[in-house]
Amino acid sequence: MFELPEMITLARQFNETIQGKIIREGTLGNSPHKFVWYNRKPEEFTRLTRKKTIGKAYAKGRWLFTPLEPGYILVFGECGGKIRFHSAGMKLPEKYHLWLAFEDGSALTTLTQMWGAMELYEAGTEKERKYVKDMRMTPIDPGFTIDYFSGFLDELLQGEKRSVKSLLTQDQLIPGLGNAIAQDIMFYAHLHPRRSLSNLTSGQRRDLYAAITDTVHEIIDKGGRNDESDLFGKPGGYVRLMDSAAAGKPCPECGRTVEKIQYLGGACYFCPKC
Ligand SMILES: [Zn+2]
Repeated sequence: MFELPEMITLARQFNETIQGKIIREGTLGNSPHKFVWYNRKPEEFTRLTRKKTIGKAYAKGRWLFTPLEPGYILVFGECGGKIRFHSAGMKLPEKYHLWLAFEDGSALTTLTQMWGAMELYEAGTEKERKYVKDMRMTPIDPGFTIDYFSGFLDELLQGEKRSVKSLLTQDQLIPGLGNAIAQDIMFYAHLHPRRSLSNLTSGQRRDLYAAITDTVHEIIDKGGRNDESDLFGKPGGYVRLMDSAAAGKPCPECGRTVEKIQYLGGACYFCPKC
């Protein structure tokens, strides 16, 4: 699944590649998939996207927003899989969940792996969408400071108990993070996935904050994770330290065997010492 760094990479590539292009025809999927969330009927999507110009895209959390000017905005959210550009004359994939054919002969197709939103809003109304509305600060927002983070933890822990993994992967508490990025954040912060947040020392809070912001920025700088691919089908440059390939092998820092556990709806990979 795409997390914040992959969405940032796609937004940048959209702006370098398709911004300014005019849509000849927009089509919703030829491959039925009940976990793709559409908010338009196919004929409505085609009618509303015709002759629209691609505006400047941007990402927030695990959401990618692309203006279709005038008046509309295309939203991809919480998805994974393939969002691909095809030059004029290139063969298109047989299956897609959304296809934009541009007047210059090039095209954009998407095919999500598991689930995800592919929705078209009248510009401005996308801000009312569930998960977009009231989205908390993301790790690349200027306001995501250590003071914000620490204050947020205090507030969160008044009402409930949470583990480190829960903070990083559940309820979009820190929007843009997901199960993939969380593994390396926990490794760099030297915190066990089940570790309770309620008794972290102030030093551990600082380490966790630094691990979140440093890891997110590093993955953005490297164009996303290498287990996801970009607008051109090229894998990102960030190789995770803690993933399925690491399980059973020596920890890169101390040499102990990396373990795997199932916890909170997904596998966790960690070094028991680090
Ligand atoms: Zn280790």
